[in-house]
Amino acid sequence: MIDPSSYSAVLRRSFRKTFPPAVRGEGVYLWDTRGKRYLDFSGSAAVNFIGHGVVEIAAAMATQAKQLEFVHSSQFTTPVAEEYATELLDFAGKNFAGGCVYFTCGGSESVETALKLARQYQVEIGQTNRYQVISRGQSYHGSTLGALSVSGNKQRREIYRPMVREFAHVGFPYCYRCAFDCTDSCRSCGQEYAAEVDQAITATEGEVAAFILEPVSGATLGAVVPPPGYLQSVAEICHRHGVLLIADEVITGMGRTGRNFAVEHWDVAPDLLVTAKGLSSGYAPLGAVVAGDHIAEPFLHGKAIFNHGFTFGGHPIACATALANIDVIEREGLCEHVLENEGRLRGMLESLRDLPIVGDVRGAGYFHAIELVKDKETKQTFNHEEAEQLLRGFLSGELFTRGLICRTDDRGDPVVQLSPPLIAGEEQFQEIESILRPVLSEAWERMGSWR
Ligand code: PMP
Repeated sequence: MIDPSSYSAVLRRSFRKTFPPAVRGEGVYLWDTRGKRYLDFSGSAAVNFIGHGVVEIAAAMATQAKQLEFVHSSQFTTPVAEEYATELLDFAGKNFAGGCVYFTCGGSESVETALKLARQYQVEIGQTNRYQVISRGQSYHGSTLGALSVSGNKQRREIYRPMVREFAHVGFPYCYRCAFDCTDSCRSCGQEYAAEVDQAITATEGEVAAFILEPVSGATLGAVVPPPGYLQSVAEICHRHGVLLIADEVITGMGRTGRNFAVEHWDVAPDLLVTAKGLSSGYAPLGAVVAGDHIAEPFLHGKAIFNHGFTFGGHPIACATALANIDVIEREGLCEHVLENEGRLRGMLESLRDLPIVGDVRGAGYFHAIELVKDKETKQTFNHEEAEQLLRGFLSGELFTRGLICRTDDRGDPVVQLSPPLIAGEEQFQEIESILRPVLSEAWERMGSWR
């Protein structure tokens, strides 16, 4: 066996060799080769919903692999893909009854699929000029070039800008730093932000195919819940203009926020639902686009053919995994578990507000973030060098060393993000409090020289 300390053959994230090799997982915990235990409070980047090491998932995968490992979607469908698609439509609720599922291998591929599907749908119904896709500044919808084109986060786009389309980005309803001087308690800015969507669509009238958003935004700003009325107004505006609403629920789908899909909190019916991570809890790569029946219509009953595909999309083993995964989510009542426990998780995080570095605590269900600030009163954030020193120079490493995995990010303002497996409970909340509190306090003390 190769000595783990000499691992270098794999191109690691950021090309930095800073991560220990993980070898085992069980429940909310992971272990590395030295036997060190980690509390996985990032759920492996919001991927793991049912916990690590669930034996029945492994068994379902093995059974499928023995029976039929793979066929290509241009030649066959499979009972397991059909069964899972039916389950997923059912899980997505009444708005998707009679709809269709398109399988991919992950989030970015699902976003690409939704963008192309939106464009082709518009062409099929005679709206041939519609091709633009509006999104929100600071959003993140994936790493592939199409998904990056509709991702508003500047930092992720910058170097690739000549290669990505420049569609319009509208304001991001981020109440902690509201562009409309909304305070945390008034949250009255929903209509103002929605009006920006209306204006952006009107400015390119007749050319917009779709508007894409995350109902609760994730990767960049961290767990931002929209202000009241925003999503409903956006849905109404899109509908009025003939623009498809794409809900990117790669992070928030499958129960992460306590509802099967986060749009249900606002009773909003998107035309296309994009999902991935929690479909399989990471036991196999799988993504999907769930399309409403009106979107499926030209393809199912008209002459349209969707000229698109990924070799491994809807892989039978991934679908068997996902079937077993959804069974665990439903049988164990994980959405209900999240709803019952989110208050405790939130309460624990709120208790950290007495720390001078904690500016905001936000989120929904088992998806929360703490925004770190330099000055609580003014909400002053860190400059690039300070954020670098704070997150990569101290916080990430220190949390890891103390056995807590949660994601720190400064592609927006610096945040610590928490997205644990949905099985986590009080015991783990206490465990993370006992790590987060001293580490955040120490971060503040270390930063003394910058203040
Ligand atoms: N959309 C959102 C909202 C995401 O958070 C992500 C990944 N974190 C993606 C799309 C891309 O998913 P993937 O990494 O599986 O391609």
